[in-house]
Amino acid sequence: MKILHVTAEYFPYIKAGGLADMVASLSKAQADEHSVYVALPLVKNLGKEPNWTGKTYTCYDPNGLSAISSASKHLREAQFREAKEGNCLLYFFESPFFSSKEFIYETGEEQYHFALFSYACHFLAEQVRADVLHAHDWHTAITVALQLYNPKPIPSVFTIHNLAYQGDFPYWKVGFLTEEPFHLVPSAFDHDGKCNFLKAGIVACDQLTTVSPGYKIETLQEPGGFGLSYILQKKGNRYLGILNGIDSDVWNPNSDPYLKTKFSSHNWKQGKTAAKKELYSKIGRPQISLNRPLLGLIGRLTYQKGYPSYVRAYQERRHLPFFHLALGAGDSELEQTFFHLSHTEPEQFYFYRGYSEELSHLIEAASDFFLMPSLFEPCGLNQMYSQVYGTVPIVSRVGGLKDTVFESGIHAQTGFVFEPNDSDSLGYALERAHTLYLSDKHDIVVKNMMSLDWSWTSPKKQYIQIYQNAISEKI
Ligand code: ADP
Repeated sequence: MKILHVTAEYFPYIKAGGLADMVASLSKAQADEHSVYVALPLVKNLGKEPNWTGKTYTCYDPNGLSAISSASKHLREAQFREAKEGNCLLYFFESPFFSSKEFIYETGEEQYHFALFSYACHFLAEQVRADVLHAHDWHTAITVALQLYNPKPIPSVFTIHNLAYQGDFPYWKVGFLTEEPFHLVPSAFDHDGKCNFLKAGIVACDQLTTVSPGYKIETLQEPGGFGLSYILQKKGNRYLGILNGIDSDVWNPNSDPYLKTKFSSHNWKQGKTAAKKELYSKIGRPQISLNRPLLGLIGRLTYQKGYPSYVRAYQERRHLPFFHLALGAGDSELEQTFFHLSHTEPEQFYFYRGYSEELSHLIEAASDFFLMPSLFEPCGLNQMYSQVYGTVPIVSRVGGLKDTVFESGIHAQTGFVFEPNDSDSLGYALERAHTLYLSDKHDIVVKNMMSLDWSWTSPKKQYIQIYQNAISEKI
């Protein structure tokens, strides 16, 4: 099967969050058996230099584009540059609108930039003769919407990675959609008086997915649907939640290039202690005892991630001996709170503001526990990375977190679960984690976690089935 993924993020080239990891690892897993193409924007600061093949592709049909709109002119100025990544072929959309961007999501005319990219992807799908088009999130939804008016529509799958980001714009900002080459009717994608790109992808796609079964259920009711539950319900059995897999070449303590001492389930204690030592020396806190439990946190500092309840629990449970280590950037008030703790309580708390792949691997390896207090979480990846690194996740009972972390019940214990937005419940989970740390059961929980299989083997089969469903709808 020829599969074209269309995405704004792709690890390690462009990454803001889990979308990058998901598309990169899914496409890599699919490329074992299928022809996989990935279209992504070419931004200024790529995380890695692409392995260019020298081939280029146009972004418009010269016979079909008569000429005068700005979008037509901008598509003429753009091109796709092909590169090889493992068994996948990547198509970088080269346009001045992206090549000047330091970061993929900058404020500005994002609706126009991503619509141009989406149109170009629609034409690329025809050039590579894709059997199926798989678009991710609102940035690429217009590629799917264009299939509504395509005389030979390409079967399409649309994946929602986070309903909190919908790409909704006042009509005066999307007038270009009515012109050449789009010829779309923005009011067809109306939600609350705005043109909603995510809704366009949802209504237009043949098959819709999101990134965990638990999150799918939450999105079918408000407030989990962020206002779109009514339209999601209409998709019926054409809407499925498929849990993300992880890339075990990137996230594997036994081969992780960021770790000096690799480890597996046989020698995790030595491996994690070595990582802790290295981490403490790297952050300038070598005096912190290696015997104290380390609690790691990594993430975008946004409303979604629920950190305020963590800060309350931290202040209420000072008797617990955790050393807290947070990595992230975002909301300035939260950054200031974390900075304040880092400076005033250096024996308890350390905060690194920014983005660091290296530090994120080291934190996963060194931590004894990893906290994710999200208010909602479509899938979440760090809880799974934690488990394979022998780091016990402590998570709120939401979305993909509750699908992957179990504290009690029929499943073997693989973490701790508490109620979202509840500092008492979170604090009590920290108490239970500390008790585990002191007991022999810690070894059992680590063994349980390190034997979990979060590979793409099963989810990639589900995606192929979805693609086949999309194809058969078009026959
Ligand atoms: P989201 O997509 O909502 O940000 P996920 O848990 O799905 O959340 O994925 C987040 C990904 O981004 C993980 O791979 C995480 O390690 C990474 N990440 C987030 N913030 C940082 C950071 N400051 N430095 C390094 N990696 C980060």
